Amino acid sequence: MAELVPGIHLVDNSIGCNTYIIIDSGITLVDTGLRGNEKNIYGCLQKLGYTPKDIRRIIITHAHIDHINCLYRLKSDSGAQVFAGAAEADMIEGRKPLHAAGGLFGIFSGIMRIYYRYRPVNVDVKLREGDNIDVLDGLKVITLSGHSEGNLGLYSPQHSLVFSSDTIRVLDGRLAAPNPKFTADMAEAIDAIKRLSGLSFDIMLPGHGKPILSGASEKVRELYHEMKH
Ligand SMILES: [Zn+2]
Repeated sequence: MAELVPGIHLVDNSIGCNTYIIIDSGITLVDTGLRGNEKNIYGCLQKLGYTPKDIRRIIITHAHIDHINCLYRLKSDSGAQVFAGAAEADMIEGRKPLHAAGGLFGIFSGIMRIYYRYRPVNVDVKLREGDNIDVLDGLKVITLSGHSEGNLGLYSPQHSLVFSSDTIRVLDGRLAAPNPKFTADMAEAIDAIKRLSGLSFDIMLPGHGKPILSGASEKVRELYHEMKH
Protein backbone atom coordinates (compact mmCIF):
# COMPACT_ATOMS: atom_id res chain seq x y z
CA MET A 1 0.00 0.00 0.00
CA ALA A 2 1.04 3.56 -0.53
CA GLU A 3 2.51 5.54 2.35
CA LEU A 4 1.44 9.05 1.34
CA VAL A 5 3.24 10.89 4.08
CA PRO A 6 4.99 9.37 7.08
CA GLY A 7 2.36 7.51 9.09
CA ILE A 8 -0.55 7.85 6.64
CA HIS A 9 -1.40 5.07 4.20
CA LEU A 10 -4.07 4.69 1.55
CA VAL A 11 -5.61 1.20 1.56
CA ASP A 12 -4.87 -0.59 -1.73
CA ASN A 13 -7.85 -1.23 -4.00
CA SER A 14 -10.18 0.27 -1.46
CA ILE A 15 -13.79 -0.58 -2.42
CA GLY A 16 -16.37 2.22 -2.53
CA CYS A 17 -14.27 5.09 -1.20
CA ASN A 18 -10.71 5.78 -0.14
CA THR A 19 -9.92 4.43 3.31
CA TYR A 20 -6.92 6.00 5.02
CA ILE A 21 -4.88 4.45 7.83
CA ILE A 22 -3.23 6.84 10.26
CA ILE A 23 -0.54 5.38 12.51
CA ASP A 24 -0.30 7.62 15.54
CA SER A 25 -1.10 6.44 19.08
CA GLY A 26 -2.75 3.30 17.73
CA ILE A 27 -4.52 3.07 14.39
CA THR A 28 -7.11 5.55 13.15
CA LEU A 29 -9.17 4.90 10.03
CA VAL A 30 -10.77 7.61 7.94
CA ASP A 31 -13.90 6.19 6.23
CA THR A 32 -14.57 2.50 5.69
CA GLY A 33 -15.75 1.74 2.14
CA LEU A 34 -18.30 -0.78 0.93
CA ARG A 35 -18.94 -4.29 2.23
CA GLY A 36 -15.85 -6.46 1.80
CA ASN A 37 -13.41 -3.57 2.13
CA GLU A 38 -12.54 -4.73 5.65
CA LYS A 39 -10.45 -7.48 3.98
CA ASN A 40 -8.36 -4.86 2.16
CA ILE A 41 -8.02 -2.80 5.33
CA TYR A 42 -6.95 -5.81 7.40
CA GLY A 43 -4.51 -6.87 4.65
CA CYS A 44 -2.85 -3.45 4.80
CA LEU A 45 -2.75 -3.46 8.58
CA GLN A 46 -1.12 -6.87 8.54
CA LYS A 47 1.60 -5.66 6.15
CA LEU A 48 2.21 -2.78 8.54
CA GLY A 49 2.45 -5.15 11.52
CA TYR A 50 -0.95 -4.42 13.08
CA THR A 51 -4.18 -6.36 13.69
CA PRO A 52 -7.83 -5.19 13.68
CA LYS A 53 -7.63 -4.91 17.47
CA ASP A 54 -5.12 -2.08 17.06
CA ILE A 55 -7.80 0.13 15.44
CA ARG A 56 -8.68 2.69 18.12
CA ARG A 57 -10.68 5.24 16.15
CA ILE A 58 -12.82 5.21 13.03
CA ILE A 59 -13.66 8.66 11.69
CA ILE A 60 -16.58 8.92 9.25
CA THR A 61 -16.67 12.01 7.03
CA HIS A 62 -20.33 11.56 6.00
CA ALA A 63 -23.15 9.01 5.99
CA HIS A 64 -23.10 7.87 2.37
CA ILE A 65 -23.26 4.10 1.99
CA ASP A 66 -19.91 3.93 0.15
CA HIS A 67 -18.19 5.46 3.21
CA ILE A 68 -19.92 3.56 6.03
CA ASN A 69 -20.94 0.14 4.74
CA CYS A 70 -18.13 -1.73 6.57
CA LEU A 71 -18.41 0.30 9.74
CA TYR A 72 -20.45 -2.29 11.65
CA ARG A 73 -17.97 -5.04 10.88
CA LEU A 74 -14.91 -2.90 11.63
CA LYS A 75 -16.30 -1.71 14.94
CA SER A 76 -17.30 -5.20 16.06
CA ASP A 77 -13.90 -6.65 15.13
CA SER A 78 -11.89 -3.85 16.74
CA GLY A 79 -13.96 -2.24 19.49
CA ALA A 80 -12.80 1.12 18.09
CA GLN A 81 -14.50 4.41 18.93
CA VAL A 82 -16.57 5.83 16.09
CA PHE A 83 -16.27 9.56 15.39
CA ALA A 84 -18.75 11.27 13.06
CA GLY A 85 -20.44 14.59 12.51
CA ALA A 86 -23.30 15.34 14.88
CA ALA A 87 -25.49 16.15 11.84
CA GLU A 88 -24.92 12.69 10.31
CA ALA A 89 -25.14 10.60 13.50
CA ASP A 90 -28.90 9.96 13.21
CA MET A 91 -28.29 8.22 9.89
CA ILE A 92 -25.25 6.25 11.03
CA GLU A 93 -27.16 5.15 14.15
CA GLY A 94 -30.20 4.15 12.07
CA ARG A 95 -32.76 6.68 13.33
CA LYS A 96 -32.98 8.37 9.94
CA PRO A 97 -32.72 6.76 6.51
CA LEU A 98 -29.35 7.21 4.83
CA HIS A 99 -29.11 10.26 2.57
CA ALA A 100 -31.63 10.10 -0.22
CA ALA A 101 -31.28 12.04 -3.43
CA GLY A 102 -33.82 12.98 -6.05
CA GLY A 103 -34.17 11.80 -9.66
CA LEU A 104 -32.38 8.85 -11.21
CA PHE A 105 -29.51 9.05 -8.74
CA GLY A 106 -32.08 8.79 -5.94
CA ILE A 107 -33.43 5.55 -7.41
CA PHE A 108 -29.89 4.24 -7.91
CA SER A 109 -28.82 5.09 -4.36
CA GLY A 110 -32.05 3.55 -3.00
CA ILE A 111 -31.16 0.28 -4.75
CA MET A 112 -27.57 0.55 -3.41
CA ARG A 113 -28.87 0.92 0.14
CA ILE A 114 -31.10 -2.13 -0.15
CA TYR A 115 -28.38 -4.21 -1.83
CA TYR A 116 -25.70 -3.30 0.72
CA ARG A 117 -27.99 -3.69 3.77
CA TYR A 118 -26.53 -1.07 6.05
CA ARG A 119 -26.29 -2.06 9.73
CA PRO A 120 -26.53 0.87 12.14
CA VAL A 121 -23.62 1.66 14.45
CA ASN A 122 -23.45 3.77 17.59
CA VAL A 123 -21.44 6.98 17.18
CA ASP A 124 -19.24 7.38 20.26
CA VAL A 125 -17.96 10.89 19.56
CA LYS A 126 -20.18 13.40 17.79
CA LEU A 127 -18.03 15.95 16.05
CA ARG A 128 -18.65 19.64 15.53
CA GLU A 129 -16.82 22.46 13.78
CA GLY A 130 -13.57 23.29 15.58
CA ASP A 131 -13.30 20.03 17.56
CA ASN A 132 -9.85 18.51 17.78
CA ILE A 133 -9.18 14.79 17.43
CA ASP A 134 -6.10 13.65 19.27
CA VAL A 135 -4.03 12.36 16.33
CA LEU A 136 -1.48 14.04 14.04
CA ASP A 137 -0.85 16.71 16.67
CA GLY A 138 -4.50 17.72 16.63
CA LEU A 139 -6.78 16.94 13.71
CA LYS A 140 -9.22 19.83 13.43
CA VAL A 141 -12.81 19.20 12.39
CA ILE A 142 -14.08 21.50 9.62
CA THR A 143 -17.67 21.48 8.42
CA LEU A 144 -17.86 21.11 4.64
CA SER A 145 -21.63 20.80 4.12
CA GLY A 146 -23.05 20.64 0.63
CA HIS A 147 -22.03 17.22 -0.66
CA SER A 148 -24.18 16.00 2.23
CA GLU A 149 -25.83 17.89 5.06
CA GLY A 150 -23.09 17.30 7.62
CA ASN A 151 -20.08 16.45 5.49
CA LEU A 152 -16.82 16.93 7.41
CA GLY A 153 -13.20 17.57 6.58
CA LEU A 154 -10.21 17.06 8.86
CA TYR A 155 -7.34 19.52 8.89
CA SER A 156 -3.87 19.06 10.31
CA PRO A 157 -2.05 22.40 10.16
CA GLN A 158 1.08 20.80 11.68
CA HIS A 159 1.30 18.19 8.93
CA SER A 160 -0.05 20.53 6.24
CA LEU A 161 -2.81 18.17 5.13
CA VAL A 162 -6.57 17.94 4.75
CA PHE A 163 -8.84 14.95 4.53
CA SER A 164 -11.30 16.60 2.15
CA SER A 165 -14.00 13.90 1.93
CA ASP A 166 -16.18 14.33 -1.20
CA THR A 167 -16.02 18.14 -1.22
CA ILE A 168 -13.91 18.31 -4.39
CA ARG A 169 -13.57 15.68 -7.10
CA VAL A 170 -10.15 14.51 -8.25
CA LEU A 171 -10.20 13.35 -11.87
CA ASP A 172 -6.94 12.23 -13.51
CA GLY A 173 -4.96 14.05 -10.85
CA ARG A 174 -6.82 17.34 -11.39
CA LEU A 175 -9.32 18.99 -9.07
CA ALA A 176 -12.85 19.33 -10.38
CA ALA A 177 -16.10 20.93 -9.26
CA PRO A 178 -18.66 18.71 -7.49
CA ASN A 179 -21.06 16.74 -9.69
CA PRO A 180 -24.56 18.21 -9.10
CA LYS A 181 -26.02 14.67 -9.21
CA PHE A 182 -24.08 13.73 -6.09
CA THR A 183 -24.47 17.05 -4.29
CA ALA A 184 -27.24 17.71 -1.76
CA ASP A 185 -26.88 21.52 -1.84
CA MET A 186 -24.73 23.12 -4.54
CA ALA A 187 -24.57 26.61 -2.97
CA GLU A 188 -23.29 25.09 0.27
CA ALA A 189 -20.90 22.85 -1.65
CA ILE A 190 -19.36 25.91 -3.33
CA ASP A 191 -19.13 27.62 0.05
CA ALA A 192 -17.32 24.54 1.41
CA ILE A 193 -14.73 24.86 -1.37
CA LYS A 194 -14.35 28.54 -0.50
CA ARG A 195 -13.74 27.60 3.14
CA LEU A 196 -11.15 24.98 2.14
CA SER A 197 -9.46 27.50 -0.14
CA GLY A 198 -8.91 29.74 2.88
CA LEU A 199 -6.69 27.13 4.58
CA SER A 200 -3.06 26.44 3.88
CA PHE A 201 -2.05 22.83 3.15
CA ASP A 202 0.20 20.89 0.79
CA ILE A 203 -1.59 17.56 0.83
CA MET A 204 -5.24 16.84 0.08
CA LEU A 205 -6.60 13.37 0.81
CA PRO A 206 -9.96 13.04 -0.97
CA GLY A 207 -12.77 10.51 -0.44
CA HIS A 208 -12.33 9.24 -4.01
CA GLY A 209 -9.55 9.54 -6.57
CA LYS A 210 -5.86 10.12 -6.13
CA PRO A 211 -4.46 12.13 -3.24
CA ILE A 212 -2.81 15.45 -4.13
CA LEU A 213 0.64 15.41 -2.57
CA SER A 214 1.89 18.94 -3.19
CA GLY A 215 0.57 22.47 -3.54
CA ALA A 216 -2.98 21.31 -2.79
CA SER A 217 -4.48 24.46 -1.25
CA GLU A 218 -3.21 26.52 -4.19
CA LYS A 219 -5.04 24.10 -6.52
CA VAL A 220 -8.21 24.46 -4.43
CA ARG A 221 -7.95 28.26 -4.73
CA GLU A 222 -7.58 27.96 -8.53
CA LEU A 223 -10.64 25.71 -8.70
CA TYR A 224 -12.71 28.06 -6.57
CA HIS A 225 -11.65 30.97 -8.78
CA GLU A 226 -12.63 29.04 -11.95
CA MET A 227 -15.99 28.09 -10.45
CA LYS A 228 -16.82 31.70 -9.63
CA HIS A 229 -16.24 32.81 -13.25
ZN1 LIG B 1 -20.46 10.92 -0.56
